[in-house]
Amino acid sequence: MQAIRSLVLVSGDAESKARGSLKVYEELQREIIKFGLQNEITVTMVEDVGRHDVLPLVIVYPEAVIYGPVTAADVPFLVEEHLYKGRIAAGLQASTKELSGRIAWLSARKGTLPAEQRIVLHRVGLIDPDSIEDYIAHDGYEALGKALNEMSPQEVIEEVISSGLKGRGGAGFPTGLKWKFVAQVDNYPKYIVCNADESEPGTFKDRVILEGDPHSMIESMAIAGYAVGADVGYIYIRGEYKLAQRRMAQAIEQARELGLLGEKIFGSNFNFDIHIHSGAGAYICGEETSLIESIEGKRGEPRSRPPYPTTHGLWDKPTVINNVETLANIPPIIHNGATWFRAFGPKSSPGTKVYTILGNVNVTGLIEVPMGITLREVVAIYARGMKNGKSLKLAQTGGSGGSIFPASLQDTPMDYDSYQRAGVSLGSGALLICNEDTCVVDLAKVLLNFFNQESCGKCTPCRVGVQRALQILTNFSEGTGQPNDIDALQKLSDNLIQLSNCGLGQTAAVPLRDMLNHFRAEVDAHVKLKVCPTGVCQMSGKHVWE
Ligand code: SF4
Repeated sequence: MQAIRSLVLVSGDAESKARGSLKVYEELQREIIKFGLQNEITVTMVEDVGRHDVLPLVIVYPEAVIYGPVTAADVPFLVEEHLYKGRIAAGLQASTKELSGRIAWLSARKGTLPAEQRIVLHRVGLIDPDSIEDYIAHDGYEALGKALNEMSPQEVIEEVISSGLKGRGGAGFPTGLKWKFVAQVDNYPKYIVCNADESEPGTFKDRVILEGDPHSMIESMAIAGYAVGADVGYIYIRGEYKLAQRRMAQAIEQARELGLLGEKIFGSNFNFDIHIHSGAGAYICGEETSLIESIEGKRGEPRSRPPYPTTHGLWDKPTVINNVETLANIPPIIHNGATWFRAFGPKSSPGTKVYTILGNVNVTGLIEVPMGITLREVVAIYARGMKNGKSLKLAQTGGSGGSIFPASLQDTPMDYDSYQRAGVSLGSGALLICNEDTCVVDLAKVLLNFFNQESCGKCTPCRVGVQRALQILTNFSEGTGQPNDIDALQKLSDNLIQLSNCGLGQTAAVPLRDMLNHFRAEVDAHVKLKVCPTGVCQMSGKHVWE
């Protein structure tokens, strides 16, 4: 199958349509077929491209060239010049002075959208994951060679700190700083642990990396080991990820055979080896201290912190625990330098993020884009809009424990700082996008049911609190909720956040908190009027009109 080389966006907002964008869209499709480009170029209409005076707009990616205002009569020239001959269609480009708002934002990322900007996934789909030779042919193990031969461990850590890389597992802790904490502890042996448990519902980005580019994990863990003084690493892979486990095991064997794992790697004094540990299906083992307990052969329950794994981790020794996506950024950073990495995304959260797009949109799947893109852009450009023309009601970021936020926050840049300011957590990168037919009470009920199943039961606030919250939500959805239950739910949410022993209990509170913060009227309708505004909940309790 031929790869798509260009994406052409046509503005499809009401004003653009009034000025003939539908005719432009149809003419583009006709001309593209005329030139035989239909397998290489995709044309799509986007609802909202911002306010400006040059509608309708045609934007050609990956070059991000903006044409406007474009008429149907301009299209044959545009297609022949730009899409067929590969040069700018002179005279049709929109003046940057006339562009404003969101389009100007897109323009600033010239050349990066929507062909995506792949750092983490740059080899996925391109190389044969079963072949170490193919990995090496695509710059594989060059970063490790550079680190061992040209850099001191301190320089490697400084490079990672300078890059501004933050942990992509959800917490967003600076990776270089974590390495520095482990490096400065004089207690051996030390360990590198790759968290590949990925049990967050709706998240499958790590699996794609492990299956598509397994050697990148080996290379990045070895670099981390060199930087902090560790000579053993563990990859804790979700039990259901059989293909990922097989490919990782094969990649480790291949690296050992070529001397890229083992003793005196690249002729240096650095020794490093990696073991695979298969998870057993517990969500809680994605939490770093539970994961450590599990590797040690104990029941997967979280430890109290402090002390943190940086000083008292695996077998009570200093341990770096990084998520798969975080580690996959390391070889490109060492290979290309921190300055190169900082060119992507905003200053405070540099780099890219891999998202899994799910829900009521036209196209679901996996993307890697610079940090700072907005949900509106994700929906319009990558998800090709909401399904069946419905409107966006809410989105949940980061899987079951992620924030639920209303459509009014969809223009918030998706980076750690901007989201934190808006009270939203970026989480692991799952984006559940829901339309107007979604009932927020029903959604919260589904999520709390999940946490109820997955709670390890170690502490009371979570074991009892989650169960009680689920019961209250069930009452709401059945029309038997009482007004004081809303206050009880608020209190349960606060208690879960403050008193739970680990992240699971704390994140179980997030859907409750966000539901009450952003969708209070809908909750009130369930409780006080015994009505589900979306018609999802089957009210069997007493109705006000009865
Ligand atoms: Fe276990 Fe929940 Fe307590 Fe975490 S918060 S220790 S999952 S009971």
